[in-house]
Amino acid sequence: MTNLETALIHGAIREGYADKKGAVNVPMYLSSTFHQESIDEFGEFDYARSGNPTRDALERAIAELEGGDRGFAFATGMAAVTACLMLLSKGDHIVITEDVYGGTYRFVTKVLPRFGITHTFVDFSNLAAVRAAVKPETKLLYIETPSNPTLGITDIRAVAAIAKEHGALSFLDNTFMTPLHQRPLELGVDIVIHSATKFLSGHSDIVAGLAVTKTPELSNQLYFIQNSFGSVLGVQDSYTLIQNMKTTAVRFNESSRVAMKIAQYLQAHPLVEKVYYPGLETHPGYAIHAAQSTSAGAVLSFTLPNYEVAKKFASAMQIPVFAVSLGGVESILSYPAKMSHAAMEPEERIKRGITDGLFRFSVGLENEDDLLADFAQALEKAGQE
Ligand SMILES: *Cc1c(COP(=O)(O)O)cnc(C)c1O
Repeated sequence: MTNLETALIHGAIREGYADKKGAVNVPMYLSSTFHQESIDEFGEFDYARSGNPTRDALERAIAELEGGDRGFAFATGMAAVTACLMLLSKGDHIVITEDVYGGTYRFVTKVLPRFGITHTFVDFSNLAAVRAAVKPETKLLYIETPSNPTLGITDIRAVAAIAKEHGALSFLDNTFMTPLHQRPLELGVDIVIHSATKFLSGHSDIVAGLAVTKTPELSNQLYFIQNSFGSVLGVQDSYTLIQNMKTTAVRFNESSRVAMKIAQYLQAHPLVEKVYYPGLETHPGYAIHAAQSTSAGAVLSFTLPNYEVAKKFASAMQIPVFAVSLGGVESILSYPAKMSHAAMEPEERIKRGITDGLFRFSVGLENEDDLLADFAQALEKAGQE
């Protein structure tokens, strides 16, 4: 298969799942158990937690898209993140990017310490600080780039190299870029993780998580955890994700094109204090992002002066859904201070730039002029006394 756009359409169906009746879609194998030939002859599947043909088609598709050894589908993005973190053991230490996804922050700070797994949060744009945080017991460097919600950029190749130098693994949450626009395994990362709830599914319909391992050794380890924990993606959601992934390229590319227009518009607007978008040359991570990714993505953040202005702006916006999440066909406006990052202590939150004036905007597929006009009228209302 030559290009990823083609693999998106044909990847899942090619593995012999198009049954003899010629279905062009992967069938939903709604079967929890599978008939075996005899007491000493077993088929490819036995029990659906361990493997199901529909989920298997999806897992093969994401492995091909990321260029890895093996793919894994989980019930949610957090189930994928936590299953990967379960590769660690008591006494291990994680060096993790400080602007990591809120749910990952919660698991690393509130759950893992109970099992004797410790962590250090670091600003991953500062490679000297990353290096300084590595201890003899560090077994993992955990990257998320672009990060949430201030779109911080990490030099993937450099951090993966630091991990290798110290005999540690590196994981990367690739949710914001999809396999189409950022190729972590090719840059030295060991496991790539997605919340497929976002751009890969893209219709705000299902929650799902995916992970892809680089080596057969890691594949065996993660398969053991997936089967032990059992937080696998169900058959119907696997089917939905396979279908939705076929349009990821056209959705993501169009939304990213419009995101650039909106970022430029907001940057020029007098009421907007700051715009976070890695496609703007003023973004501190612009050059690094451009060197390791082929799109600036469809999510941007911006700050308004204060809580009062923010409140007026949010109630004046007409088109977007006002909600958590991102990556849907409908634009989604969210207010991280009280939504995605509500679990974070206020000092930690402010330190990360998540102020009371910060909004995150995930660009959907609405008409670009309609979106720009909506921002114009809402900002005008927000700026009035
Ligand atoms: C949403 C999200 C997650 C968690 O995924 P769920 O599907 O909500 O469990 C992890 N990482 C990032 C970057 C996300 O945006």
